Amino acid sequence: MQKLGQRKKPKLLPKRKCNLSVNIALTGTPGTGKTSLSSKLNHDLVSINDFYSEISNGKDEEGNWLIDLEKLNKVINVEIHSNTIFEGHVSHFLTNIDKIIVLRCHPNELKERLALRNYRSEKIKENMEAEALNIIAEEAIEIYGEEKVLEFDTSNKNIEESIEKLRDIINGNIKSDKRIDYSETIMDWY
Ligand code: ADP
Ligand code: MN
Repeated sequence: MQKLGQRKKPKLLPKRKCNLSVNIALTGTPGTGKTSLSSKLNHDLVSINDFYSEISNGKDEEGNWLIDLEKLNKVINVEIHSNTIFEGHVSHFLTNIDKIIVLRCHPNELKERLALRNYRSEKIKENMEAEALNIIAEEAIEIYGEEKVLEFDTSNKNIEESIEKLRDIINGNIKSDKRIDYSETIMDWY
């Protein structure tokens, strides 16, 4: 038996970088790239589009899902996930998200992307306006505050470049874009 005092001091473990679980909401106006980019990241993925019928109260006359935020949070429980990306343009309405990334796109480029998807011109205009008015970013900041909301501009990049950058932002290797404001582009429309 060791005598008191001769006992070896326990070695202090070197401080390890904590690998905390982080759940991320990837949000943004339709066409900004949420689905394309999130499918290429190595995170578990929840696509909110897959749950529309469960999280909405049907559709309006134009065929848009009427999302019910209470249902959204009942059906998708963020807390039972770890290191998961929740992608969808209402993902910032989920509760208990650790980090929100708002994908952005210049309205003129968004117009081209949505036209390729055969969106009706009314719908394209509506989304260009939403993007120009920074609606999703502002909603996210109102809910989660400046610190947790990061923005990333996918304009003038190819998908591969965007994936690389997004991965670096998620891993904290590079800073996200500063606040993006496309409201001045509206002036060119009239
Ligand atoms: P969302 O899920 O946000 O509605 P999608 O990923 O479905 O957006 O669509 C984005 C479209 O934009 C895709 O057709 C994609 O190929 C195109 N795109 C072009 N450049 C980029 C980019 N840099 N990042 C993301 N998507 C891009
Ligand atoms: Mn999508």
